[in-house]
Amino acid sequence: MQRIRAWGAAAAGKPLAPMTIERREPGPHDVVLEILFCGVCHSDIHQARDEWSGALFPMVPGHEIVGRVTRLGGEISKFKVGDLAGVGCLVDSCRACAPCADGLEQFCAKGPALTYNGTEMDRKTLTYGGYSTEIVVDERYTLRIPAGLDPAAAAPLLCAGITTYSPLRQWGCKPGDRVGVVGLGGLGHMAVKLAASMGAKVTVLSTSGGKEADARRLGASDFAVTKGGAAFDRLAGKVDLVIDTVSAPHDYNAYLGLLRTRGAMVVVGAPTAPTPVHAFSLILGNRRLAGSMIGGIAETQEMLDHCAKHGIVSDIELIPIQKINEAYERVLKSDVRYRFVVDVASLRG
Ligand SMILES: [Zn+2]
Ligand SMILES: [Zn+2]
Repeated sequence: MQRIRAWGAAAAGKPLAPMTIERREPGPHDVVLEILFCGVCHSDIHQARDEWSGALFPMVPGHEIVGRVTRLGGEISKFKVGDLAGVGCLVDSCRACAPCADGLEQFCAKGPALTYNGTEMDRKTLTYGGYSTEIVVDERYTLRIPAGLDPAAAAPLLCAGITTYSPLRQWGCKPGDRVGVVGLGGLGHMAVKLAASMGAKVTVLSTSGGKEADARRLGASDFAVTKGGAAFDRLAGKVDLVIDTVSAPHDYNAYLGLLRTRGAMVVVGAPTAPTPVHAFSLILGNRRLAGSMIGGIAETQEMLDHCAKHGIVSDIELIPIQKINEAYERVLKSDVRYRFVVDVASLRG
């Protein structure tokens, strides 16, 4: 066991503060990463405040991790010391169930080992995330960070990137498609960049006009203000795929009305209250309403390679860990363009 520095919450809703955690000695298949950067995901806040209940404390959040390989188990082939590597939302799974066999480890029938606020597959050892100086992960669940990606700005790809890449791939986004991105935050700005890189014509749908210049800079060719409803008339029946990133309550029926025949709307944002859907919003036009959650390990690697090829990273604001509680408040006010990333050098001090 090694004791290392981290920042975390001692109990639900407590401000994040310095703490010491233990990491295991690397086994034959483990990679040890010196963590360089860790993105701040909105779900870090929900979990640190136990807003989804059942949270495990002490909690060290962070599942958008980029680091450098410093040590390796004896049977590692994929990495060498000095490589950049990444860890996303999960660090292990059962490796035997049908979802694991299909590369959908996020839906492991036994429940994957989440990177934090979870346990290893022994179901006893608590996992701790990336607001820490070091992590030890099996190489199967460790991603290669391709050369050419800025390591700080690449960190959010491990959650925000794969969360938006996966539905675009699942629903066959192709050149010339019209993709509607609802909401321009951490997820939305990645959806715009990724859909544009696949050759889609992107329309950003936002409650106000304030983000139009950003939307166009990120790759959108069209912008629609949803307040007032005129945008829903203009775009009715014209959109192939809607990626809905909004977690505030909103009317799914209005967005389903944008879809062309057999078009699909994929929900990746999670409003806390149920949303009524009229049957005819789906029946008319054989429209599909779907959800999507992160992606498997192989698809996450595919996404990173795609981003390297197309020069895509997140737009970030780099902060020292000492500003994390302030950053959480700013995330809740959507006061970040578009992702905070912790410079983990600030934990080494
Ligand atoms: Zn996340
Ligand atoms: Zn499994």
